[in-house]
Amino acid sequence: MRTLLHRHGHAATTRRAAAYEALLRANDHLCVEHLLEAIARDHPDWHMNKTTAYRTLSLLGDLGLVSAMELPGERAQYEVTLHGPHGHIVCRECGRLRDLDPDVLAQLNDLVADQDFRTDPGQAIVGLCDACAAAAT
Ligand SMILES: [Zn+2]
Ligand SMILES: [Zn+2]
Repeated sequence: MRTLLHRHGHAATTRRAAAYEALLRANDHLCVEHLLEAIARDHPDWHMNKTTAYRTLSLLGDLGLVSAMELPGERAQYEVTLHGPHGHIVCRECGRLRDLDPDVLAQLNDLVADQDFRTDPGQAIVGLCDACAAAAT
């Protein structure tokens, strides 16, 4: 990771490494607030603000180390790219998030392309999970 940052001509600052490590350890999708909480737990003496966090995440994104998932009307969620490209489905009631198999995503994109349409990369599919659907009836 430090090597990669160096190769791209960026100084491997501890903050960038800390953000990456926090995401890696969470092994999950984190919004910027949760990421800041995780970093604060690791480095109680730091005061990283949201602007710095967003800048750090966007740099890690440019390097292909972190990917962002956009949610309509919600904060973006970030994750490390170790698991490869995949889609997301998210419950609009409880916010439960699931990864979508890349093959399923590819098929979906093909079907949508048949309708002369293109999905936004990184955009999650919003719906209702079974638990919330059952609670609604
Ligand atoms: Zn739900
Ligand atoms: Zn994911």
